[in-house]
Amino acid sequence: MAIVSIPEPSKDITLGISACLMGEKVRYNGGHKRSSFCMNQLSNFFHFQPVCPEVAIGLGIPREPIRLVGEMGNEQVRVVGTDSPELDVTEQLENYGKEKAMELTDICGYILMQKSPSCGMERVKVYHKNGSPLGASAPGAYAKALMETKPLLPIEEEGRLHDPVLRDNFFTRVYAYHRWQTDVLANPSYKAVVDFHSIQKYTIMAHDPKDYTSLGRIVAEGGKKPLDELMSEYFTGFMETLKQRANHKSHTNTMMHILGYVKKSVDSAERNQFLKLVEEYRQGIVPLVAPITMLRHFIENHGSDYIKQQTYLEPHPNQLGLRNQL
Ligand code: SF4
Repeated sequence: MAIVSIPEPSKDITLGISACLMGEKVRYNGGHKRSSFCMNQLSNFFHFQPVCPEVAIGLGIPREPIRLVGEMGNEQVRVVGTDSPELDVTEQLENYGKEKAMELTDICGYILMQKSPSCGMERVKVYHKNGSPLGASAPGAYAKALMETKPLLPIEEEGRLHDPVLRDNFFTRVYAYHRWQTDVLANPSYKAVVDFHSIQKYTIMAHDPKDYTSLGRIVAEGGKKPLDELMSEYFTGFMETLKQRANHKSHTNTMMHILGYVKKSVDSAERNQFLKLVEEYRQGIVPLVAPITMLRHFIENHGSDYIKQQTYLEPHPNQLGLRNQL
């Protein structure tokens, strides 16, 4: 058995995206915010479902800009026109966010435009009624409704995807989410949950070693629960685990565990070379792709079926190059 790898890019994963990031001229001023990362790189791997909530609720192009307005100590934030405070589109944007979250059943992730009072995922500036900055921030109204309705859906801002760690984390979650849809949700059974957990062991370990035990317990005791309950509990815990960022220490620990499966089959010169790469990775001298490539080679040649199936070895397509900068 070869390493179970992600199939060649086939665009069978759909991501929601703020329409302006695709170059659509939907902004208040008739402009766009085309993302070259999304359009030049990601578009080879994903199908995009663009959404502009402001246009969708009937604000025209061009239109009066809107902003978040609130009061210190009051979490209630409204979305109103910058010149016409009587233009309040809070409920419309929230309702549209809930509606869209329910409608887009086939998406496995969402890329949002940062700083927008509609699409911003976090840290969007909030203003006083008089237009001066309040010194506080909140998510945009559409994004907030989307995140509340689909709390497990991987959601990230385009700006944050320029950070290699956040980018790797987001796409690890996207591909794991997609795998859950295809391997478990498409044909639910207790066995499908057990099998899913089994191949995720080292992905979970890289994000939080403690969670492999707690998620394992959920699976082990799962037979006592209705299947729906088990799936909901497990997948919630799993996606929460993956939100935690893997780091040099946790990747090093995970690779050393995986080496344990093949160390007797690998000759000592190769093993020492691998250990040197792991140490260089731990010190930040070489990227993760260096030791991982060698480890994959060991597993390909000497690993059992169990270890070859581990998603950790290829959580997202190698062609995306996400581990080249970790
Ligand atoms: S940030 Fe959102 S609401 Fe604003 S133009 Fe882009 S897609 Fe439309």
